Amino acid sequence: MMYSTKDLSYMECFRVGDLARKIGLSEKTILQWHKDGLLPAVDERRQPFLFRGYDVIRCLKKLNERNKQPKLDLCQFYCQRCKEPQVPKGKNITFAGAMAIGICPECGVKMTKPFSPAQIPEVKKIFNLRDKASICDSEVSPLNFQILPPSESPKNGSEQLCMQF
Ligand SMILES: [Zn+2]
Repeated sequence: MMYSTKDLSYMECFRVGDLARKIGLSEKTILQWHKDGLLPAVDERRQPFLFRGYDVIRCLKKLNERNKQPKLDLCQFYCQRCKEPQVPKGKNITFAGAMAIGICPECGVKMTKPFSPAQIPEVKKIFNLRDKASICDSEVSPLNFQILPPSESPKNGSEQLCMQF
């Protein structure tokens, strides 16, 4: 969800209960933000805590930033044009470092998603790893891409790194 900051003023201070009512969330949520270090109190030693509008607005903006992209399944990429998760066309992807690149099946735009090394074995089960030429057109600048450890590369050298699983 996205939090609105329009009813908050920088100068105002809020007690937990007032703030909860103002932004329509539970006191528990607000105290959790405080506990998580997202929302500092005016005086950390004095309860009930008092929160500055300035800090609340900053906290909400941070949370909004965090919530912008929906949680993705391993097989999903986020398409910036469709504004929704998409499974890359043909389940074909290529790697540019830790960044995987796929094509949105709806709009044809290039989508990227970082994977951690720990995810790579799963990723290889789900997707077809392609060399970059068969995924993207010339708009992609020469990338320092790395597809698989050498032991798993096909015999015909580094030119053709197409793989089917
Ligand atoms: Zn799209």
